[in-house]
Amino acid sequence: MAGLRGQVELVVASGKGGVGKSTVTASLAVLLAEKGVPLVAADADAEAPNLHIVLGVDEWSREEPYYEGRVAYILEDRCTSCGICAEVCTYGAVEIVDGKYRINPYICEGCITCSAACPVKAIRYRFQVRSGTLRIAERTRYGFPLVSGEIVPGRPNSGKLVTEVKNAAKKLLGTRDGLLLIDAAAGIGCQVISSLTGAQLAILVAEPTPASLSDLRRIHKLTKHFGIASMLVINKYDLNPGYVEELERYARDNNIPVAARIPYDGHVAKAVAKARPVVLEYPDAPASKALHGLADYVAEEVLSDWRSWWSRYKPRKPEPYIPILIRPEQRKARRQG
Ligand code: SF4
Ligand code: SF4
Repeated sequence: MAGLRGQVELVVASGKGGVGKSTVTASLAVLLAEKGVPLVAADADAEAPNLHIVLGVDEWSREEPYYEGRVAYILEDRCTSCGICAEVCTYGAVEIVDGKYRINPYICEGCITCSAACPVKAIRYRFQVRSGTLRIAERTRYGFPLVSGEIVPGRPNSGKLVTEVKNAAKKLLGTRDGLLLIDAAAGIGCQVISSLTGAQLAILVAEPTPASLSDLRRIHKLTKHFGIASMLVINKYDLNPGYVEELERYARDNNIPVAARIPYDGHVAKAVAKARPVVLEYPDAPASKALHGLADYVAEEVLSDWRSWWSRYKPRKPEPYIPILIRPEQRKARRQG
């Protein structure tokens, strides 16, 4: 391929989990690196990172603690056990343990509502709480670096950790021309929003099912909002060939090129079990051939002149994204009901 000019962020995303994002990302990273594309891979699923497993990375060059936010705690000697904090905490973080009010640090979001309401000012905060770990493999056995993040179970703001993961990956890329290949979390939550922020390109992975088409629409809405040019990868397309046309019609109507159709292939699961990308473990498997086709498309059609590819497939008009606001009482009712 012609040399990649500039730095480009390519996010592999899907509206739902289990559609093969990490398989696609791992194989794409290995094949693009083989083609000489300078790249850094980033696992942006801080709640369930698994790209390192698919790539067989079991040693990290560096592991750094990630601190963030605040959690409340109660000064026992001041607390009069009035229970107001439990009433006002919409997260349900205030508990009674052995007859005393306590704040569960795994649930507390540090919103300060309780301390404002406490009549005797018995609530304090711990700042910069250990909330996760940033892991860096400066050189995987495939030659490119991998950055990964893992949030502590129950801690909020995994999207901020994803931003840290991306920042660390950008640092490794430095000022070189190259690709930041990001394996996003499933869904359309804050981690995915952090992954997409600042990206130019996206691979949307979907399966030929009604649920996956619905999820594709949702993730595509987000990529449009961020002005990202998307391509579609249809995984396990042969499991429901009749529905492939539905996905392709959506892609056609929305100016999304179909970059690959990957067949269902038992070799993929076998390769995952061996912690090896399928394209290396079973290079002649049908799924591997389709992934080679995807890597060729990305290298030759997209990255060789990504700015013109972006202008061809960028969203026709920006998509407003209107978050659904939930009032505190609705949140409490949902939790209780
Ligand atoms: S509001 Fe203050 S005094 Fe009342 S239970 Fe909570 S911490 Fe204790
Ligand atoms: S800081 Fe917010 S989330 Fe934490 S206990 Fe107080 S009200 Fe609940």
